[in-house]
Amino acid sequence: VNTQRTPLIAGNWKMNLDHLQAIAFVQKLAWNLKDAKHDFAAVEVAVFPPFTDLRSVQTLVSADKLPVVFGAQDVSAHDSGAFTGEISGAFLAQLECTYVLIGHSERRTLHGENDEEVAAKVTAAVKHGLVPIICVGETAADLELHGPSAVPVAQLRTALSGIDSAADIVVAYEPVWAIGSGQAATPEQAEQVAAQLRLVLSETLGQDVADKTRILYGGSVKGVNIAGYMREPNVDGALVGGASLDIDEFSSIVRFQK
Ligand code: PGA
Repeated sequence: VNTQRTPLIAGNWKMNLDHLQAIAFVQKLAWNLKDAKHDFAAVEVAVFPPFTDLRSVQTLVSADKLPVVFGAQDVSAHDSGAFTGEISGAFLAQLECTYVLIGHSERRTLHGENDEEVAAKVTAAVKHGLVPIICVGETAADLELHGPSAVPVAQLRTALSGIDSAADIVVAYEPVWAIGSGQAATPEQAEQVAAQLRLVLSETLGQDVADKTRILYGGSVKGVNIAGYMREPNVDGALVGGASLDIDEFSSIVRFQK
């Protein structure tokens, strides 16, 4: 962790927890962390519930002034119109979403999203005042064929093609082989790729953006392995899937000790 950047711990719920479960979860999480005297200013905590939960989470967070932010798991590249099933960034901004995940590997593999679509979604998110969390990562086959950073670097370059240095963004490095597999990357592997991704930020958007942009690691992050990542200079937090659905486990990740 670099002191210039506030660490971000983000919980990607995927297709889990309905809106009633979401309310109970966020309430308990906020209380749990407050009880543990968590310093919310020192580590930002974000949850990514399904679309149908967002209005409930917004109402809860704003009524109780909970120090938890939230975002969506995807966004349309379009503003409005004949796009059945899609959700506009304008709608997400109205619901006070701070962030939106873009290009998660499950969107890329299960829904065939390519780098150009990811770039269009990043541009749309920024246009609507959302902070995109741009997800990149190589498969096991990519790793064997191209080495550790070639694919994520290429994915990030394209994803940034429609925005300029004024945009506020976050990057998440998630090796596909580490997601949901229990086979997390080592902190050294995460750092190696994160450093390359920061270089891409500096080349495309300038050194200031590279210095202030948070790069997260994701893929089988748990309470027992978070500290190792947070010790690395270019890793500024985590994108957590499975372990974000257990309040105690997620809280222990948020309260990482370096
Ligand atoms: P995981 O998922 O923590 O369950 O590996 C990470 C993600 O998909 O964002």
